[in-house]
Amino acid sequence: MATNGELPIEPHKTFDTILVLDFGSQYTHLITRRLRELNVYCEMLPCTQKVADLPFKPKGVILSGGPYSVYWDDAPHVDPAVFDLNVPLLGICYGLQEIAWHHGKNVLAGEKREYGHAYLKIERHTGKEAHIERLFQDLQDDMEVWMSHGDKLSHLPDSFVTIATTNNAPFAGIAHTKKDYYGIQFHPEVTHTKGGTVLLKNFAVDICKAKQDWTMGKFVDQEIARIRALVGEKGQVIGAVSGGVDSTVAAKLMKEAIGDRFHAVLVDNGVLRLNEAETVKKTLGEHLGINLTVVDASELFLGRLKGVTDDPEKKRKIIGNTFIEVFQDEAKKIAKAAANSPMAGEIEWLLQGTLYPDVIESISFKGPSQTIKTHHNVGGLLKGMHLKLIEPLRELFKDEVRALGANLGIPENLIWRHPFPGPGIAIRILGEVTPEQVRIAREADYIFIEEIQAAGLYRKISQAFAALLPVKAVGVMGDKRVHDQIIALRAVETSDFMTADWYPFDGEFLKRVSRRIVNEVTGVCRVVYDVTSKPPGTIEME
Ligand code: GLN
Repeated sequence: MATNGELPIEPHKTFDTILVLDFGSQYTHLITRRLRELNVYCEMLPCTQKVADLPFKPKGVILSGGPYSVYWDDAPHVDPAVFDLNVPLLGICYGLQEIAWHHGKNVLAGEKREYGHAYLKIERHTGKEAHIERLFQDLQDDMEVWMSHGDKLSHLPDSFVTIATTNNAPFAGIAHTKKDYYGIQFHPEVTHTKGGTVLLKNFAVDICKAKQDWTMGKFVDQEIARIRALVGEKGQVIGAVSGGVDSTVAAKLMKEAIGDRFHAVLVDNGVLRLNEAETVKKTLGEHLGINLTVVDASELFLGRLKGVTDDPEKKRKIIGNTFIEVFQDEAKKIAKAAANSPMAGEIEWLLQGTLYPDVIESISFKGPSQTIKTHHNVGGLLKGMHLKLIEPLRELFKDEVRALGANLGIPENLIWRHPFPGPGIAIRILGEVTPEQVRIAREADYIFIEEIQAAGLYRKISQAFAALLPVKAVGVMGDKRVHDQIIALRAVETSDFMTADWYPFDGEFLKRVSRRIVNEVTGVCRVVYDVTSKPPGTIEME
């Protein structure tokens, strides 16, 4: 293993890697995802990446689409050294135009923009040029593809042939006759392009010869070795867990790598879900064997939240700042104990559950005039501890994190848990957060989720919760007039949490939930269902 001063191995050093150079298209991350789904490891870097500084040698390079026109003065261009790498190249949309531009500046604005579906006709080649067929092998001669462009090639660059056309684009697909350079005007990475994944597989597996060995089983072994090499024989790591998927998977991975030298901390902020601290203790501590400390700081949090009724942002700030304070105190205690224990190591590392979409967001190409955002470093948050960050999930997409979790033996119900906000149910209690309001919101939420699970709907719904409204309504219970609060149920379906729609429960289901909440939760006399989509609503209510 890399312990003698070498850099610990990263996935791109052991897995065959396809490099995607990003020109700022909104679909670039999808290219990466599609290839990963084919078990081909793939990483994205901005189009400005200097080839000499590449930290690995790719098996092939894909140039993404982008919002610019290659003939603009300030258009982004790839480092010409890419063409000397001697590996296959695939240009998609802007990427195609970039390859053509490099080979003779023959791109101009088209008369007609083409946006949406188009029918592609593949031109088969035989004889000497038969190899260029490979991009379209196993695909039909007529393909439905998805286009989004306004520019076009004026003519074929030298040494290129046409391999596909549409009515509006005579150069919808081009290939170099001698080298493995391909360009396509359509987007194979979006699901609207039927057969797009086959095309990407043809490129990555057949043309680039990348192995399809990116599996979670292999990643686990390699990542464990990497963490061990990084942390060393004595180093210790601390990290906060929340009971959510990411922090649990990251924590379990650390446990497998360095055992009790990983210290997990759950801060009970008083606004966790019903029985949550207990459940996390059982699952992470007992079941998964993670070295876990639960800090009950609920009184401190609730004390500071008292009387805050005006601005929801204030609640979030109080909870965020108090969390850092409590976590830091605990980290110091653990560090002291660790230094005096038989393990006698120092806590030098902070575990963070950063995922690949955050990394992509921070390195994606934002255009000629904008600087590229650097990734924020929360290590600095813990004053006086100078912790280095360890981010074992930073190469993974969410579904890969779930697959990793399953591989590590994390129970299914935890792997598929809905997201839960950091400020907890404090932002689902509209108005002042008091112990009594927390009780009501928790109990109602518990019933709602229990019924969703019983109806087999939990995985269909992306996020669901009960919120407590700060108003009272009149009701009649047992012939007696009551004046109690209202619970608002919220359940949404979404694929990316950017937009969402409310879930269409059937009436019987809502009736059952409403009956149970009003009967079982003291202080509630009415239940309503929130039928607002996002936008204009947000998923959470505060
Ligand atoms: N700006 C280029 C065009 O309009 C590329 C578009 C794209 O990559 N989607 O043709």
